[in-house]
Amino acid sequence: MGWLGLDDTDTLTQGCTTFSLHELISHLPPHITVGQVRLVRLWPFAQQRTRGNAAVAVELTTDDEVELLQFLDSYWEEHLAPLVGQKEPSTQQKRQQSPTDPGMVWFSNACQDPEYYHAAVSRQVKLKEVPSATKSWGGLGQIGATAAVLWPQTRHTWEAIAWREEHRWPSTERDVCQEAIAEVADAEDLFLTRDPTSKRSLISPRGTCPVLFGLRATSQEAAHRAAQHLLDAKATEEVIAMRVFITNQATDDHLDGSLQVLVSGVKILGRGTTIIETEQTKLFAFAESGPVKLLAQSLKKGDRIEVKGLAPESGVVHIEKMRVTGRASSKHRPMCTTCNKRMKSMGQAQGVRCPVCKKRQDDAWTVTPADQSSGPWVQPPMDSRRHLARPIEWEIEPQ
Ligand SMILES: [Zn+2]
Repeated sequence: MGWLGLDDTDTLTQGCTTFSLHELISHLPPHITVGQVRLVRLWPFAQQRTRGNAAVAVELTTDDEVELLQFLDSYWEEHLAPLVGQKEPSTQQKRQQSPTDPGMVWFSNACQDPEYYHAAVSRQVKLKEVPSATKSWGGLGQIGATAAVLWPQTRHTWEAIAWREEHRWPSTERDVCQEAIAEVADAEDLFLTRDPTSKRSLISPRGTCPVLFGLRATSQEAAHRAAQHLLDAKATEEVIAMRVFITNQATDDHLDGSLQVLVSGVKILGRGTTIIETEQTKLFAFAESGPVKLLAQSLKKGDRIEVKGLAPESGVVHIEKMRVTGRASSKHRPMCTTCNKRMKSMGQAQGVRCPVCKKRQDDAWTVTPADQSSGPWVQPPMDSRRHLARPIEWEIEPQ
């Protein structure tokens, strides 16, 4: 029994590595047994990355490895090698992109390499660091393909992915029965299915790619059952196939513990992105991060916080989770007893005045004492989280 890994077969607007794997599996010689399929998310800041930043792998069993390798050689030449160097016209996408550089690896024996996998989800990995496979094909895609094969699967979740009929790929309109989504969305073994406030579905990608939907679940059965329910609905468009992948999504595998820091200042940029300054690092809370950004904006010099996040470069952390572990004491002008607005100083020894009703009173401060208690963890809203981010409400293992 061995594992085949594949990565970097898609461009920003075309293809999908999960579908490339499905196609390869569909072409396999008849007496090769297909086991588990994996979808492994990688370091989000990788310089050469695919759109979803995911690699895939499949477990294959055969009595005739020579035949399998001959098949893989010819499949590579015919279907995957031609994808090298594909790139979209730069006008279509704002994001900087690298030409496609697919890679495929075959490991004859099942093996794990926690150290290499951890590197591939938490930092930039170079091609020369990739452990040798039994056989490998192609270029930079080997980095992710190998990580997908060597993933130790310490924590995992599941995703059922369904692929659209080819003539529909150019369209971004997707027909998935809304009633059927509503029927499965709140099952407790599914997650990131729809936004809890807006009820907007989060299961379909927005761009042009073969994926109709991806349903995330904490068990294989739940993923399969919910996906089948959507596919059985009349209002859902026809699909080529559906497969349930075991994935490293929602595992926090990319995070190494947390950082405890003392706030030295807070800077708010355009659109609300907030930088928390500390002696060691600059911590970024992005505009889209909702509660994380708001908590960051409430901080003052002397407050203590605990954060988890990734460092795209030395001295910078992009915050994914944060909590306050201590507030410094602070003093404020009193509130107007009539309007409940904060009063403003009129100058030294001039007293304070309400900006609304203009009521005046003598100089005064209200002091909030230091508070050493820890607040709750906060995280970005569902649609702004990384694929790898584990929801904070899962403090207890979901399985
Ligand atoms: Zn007032």
